Amino acid sequence: MTRSVTVSVPAKVNVQLAVGGVRPDGFHDLANVFLAVGLHDRVTVTPSDTLRITVEGPDADQVPADRTNLAARAAELLGARYGIAPEVHLHIAKEIPVAGGMAGGSADGAGALVACDALWGTGASREELLSLCAELGSDVPFSLIGGAALGRGRGELLTPLEVGGTFHWVFAVADGGLSTPAVYRECDRLREAAYAERAGAGATGGASVEHVPDPEPSPALLDALAEGDVVALASAVMAGGTPPGFAGGTPARTVSGGGSSNDLQAAAVSLRPSLTETLEAGAKAGALASIVSGSGPTCAFLARDAAAATALSGALRASGTCRTAIPATSPAPGATVV
Ligand code: ATP
Repeated sequence: MTRSVTVSVPAKVNVQLAVGGVRPDGFHDLANVFLAVGLHDRVTVTPSDTLRITVEGPDADQVPADRTNLAARAAELLGARYGIAPEVHLHIAKEIPVAGGMAGGSADGAGALVACDALWGTGASREELLSLCAELGSDVPFSLIGGAALGRGRGELLTPLEVGGTFHWVFAVADGGLSTPAVYRECDRLREAAYAERAGAGATGGASVEHVPDPEPSPALLDALAEGDVVALASAVMAGGTPPGFAGGTPARTVSGGGSSNDLQAAAVSLRPSLTETLEAGAKAGALASIVSGSGPTCAFLARDAAAATALSGALRASGTCRTAIPATSPAPGATVV
C-alpha cells in the first residue's frame, strides 16, 4: 500500500504591517503582527517516480505546477538536507486565494515540508523545520506555527503572541492577484513622492531608513489581541500605522474615519483603485474594521460575532465589489497532519 500524508495549513492576515524604510540591501524591516485564519490549503504527499505537482481549486490555473512552486522547493530543500531524493507527488487542494496577500504559497511551502518530513520520518526538530521555512521565504515560518505572532526583521523572526478569544473575519476575494514585490515598490514610490512634496521638488531618499520611522508594534493592538477584545482590536487596526505622509495618505481614512495598521494598504489601493469600493462596501455593511490583507488585493473585515460575519459576507457578495466573500475565524493552528 502506498502511504500518503496530508497536512492542513492556514492562511494569515496581518492585523498590523508596519513597514520601515528601504534598507541598503533593498529589503524593509517590518513589525508584522500575523494572525492565522481558518481558511486552509491541504497538501498531500505520496511517493512517486519523480517530483510532480498537481493543484485543485478555483485558482488552480494561476499556481505554478513546476519546481518554482514553493511546495516543490520545500520538498527539495528537506530532501537535500537529509540526503533523500524528493521523488514525491505533491497535491495541493487550494482554498487560500492565490497572490491574495494571505500567504497561500507560504502555506503550501510549510505544508509540504511538514508532510515530507512525516512521510520520510527524518526526525527533524521543530527548530530545524523553522530554519528551513525561513530559507523558503519570510512568511513561511509563521505558516508552520500558526496562532498569532509578531514578526520582526523581514517578518521571519517570530515571537508567538497570546490571543484571548476568537475573532470573526470576512475576506473579500478579488479577481486577479497583486505581486508582493510590486506592492513594496509602489509603497516606496509613494513615500518618495510624499517626501519630495514636503521637502521640495527634487528631494530624494524619502523611502529610505533615514526618513521612515522604525517599524514598531502597536501596544494597543497587542493588548486587544491578548484580551480577545474585538472592539479594541478594530480601533487599533483603524488607528493607523506609520504617520501619514510616509504611506502617502491612506485611502481608508475616507472610508470610516480611520487609518490603517497596514502600511502597504495605500500602495495596494494605488495599484488597484477599485479596492476603495470594496473597503467602503464592508464599512457600509457594518464591519468594525476594514483593511487590505498584507499586500492585497484580498480585503479583511472584522465582525462583532459569527452572525455579523455571515450577514457581512452576504452584503459584500451582493455589493458586486469582490469575486466572493468568505467568513473565517482566528486564531487557527499552524501546519497540522490530518
Ligand atoms: P504573501 O501574502 O506571502 O505576500 P500572497 O498570498 O500574496 O503572498 P501567493 O498566493 O503566495 O501570494 O502567491 C504569490 C506567487 O507565488 C504566485 O503568483 C505564484 O506565481 C507563486 N507561487 C509559488 N508557489 C505557489 C503556491 N504553492 N501557491 C500559490 N502561488 C505560488
